[in-house]
Amino acid sequence: MNTSIAARIAAISKELPEHVLLLAVSKYHSEESIMQAYMAGQRHFAESRQQELLRKARNLPPDIQWHFIGHLQSNKIKTIAPIACLIHSVDSENLAMALEQHSMQHNATINCLLQVRIAQETTKFGFLMEDIKNFFSQQKHLAMPHVRICGLMGMATNTAEHHIIRREFHAIRALYDDIKNTHHLPHFNQLSIGMSSDYHIAIEEGSTIIRIGSSIFGDR
Ligand SMILES: *Cc1c(COP(=O)(O)O)cnc(C)c1O
Repeated sequence: MNTSIAARIAAISKELPEHVLLLAVSKYHSEESIMQAYMAGQRHFAESRQQELLRKARNLPPDIQWHFIGHLQSNKIKTIAPIACLIHSVDSENLAMALEQHSMQHNATINCLLQVRIAQETTKFGFLMEDIKNFFSQQKHLAMPHVRICGLMGMATNTAEHHIIRREFHAIRALYDDIKNTHHLPHFNQLSIGMSSDYHIAIEEGSTIIRIGSSIFGDR
């Protein structure tokens, strides 16, 4: 079936609750495809590689809101920080401190989510749930006034078993609520969970941002 990118965006948008942002994951997809989405009204796009983000940001309309969702190395912060409206993938305290360092030097504030390891795969980047709790209870965030922690991001196990996915999303949601209720974090209000294969479950479990690639752009 030859459904257009615009039609796919419309179909997904139609079923989204108002409080959920549709983030179009455009990594590995062409600038032409992104422009099709843009012409359909899509403004939030996500990339996972530095070079690709820089090129696309240079070539595409300036009112696109770029998100970064890939593993970020500290030496790439200086090029990503001026472009990204939100970094979803802050996966270590060292990276958070490097972001603080950079933002302080530039008199800027950077919007971030802390990436939590919720999947069974051990290869995925991110904080352990326990480390997130310790991060806040030890008030590490207060030492990073230029890093605005806007919430959490997670990726569920890549499985067809819905109960596993639901359990993992449920766990990150509970952690999110716990942090939000325990600490005074005025900007902590985003939960970035849900991809093409599992966003329906993620929305039921409290997602505020779904990151959708293949269901919009097709397979890579
Ligand atoms: C690629 C990617 C997505 C989108 O995945 P799809 O299955 O194509 O929707 C979402 N989140 C992250 C972190 C990704 O790397």
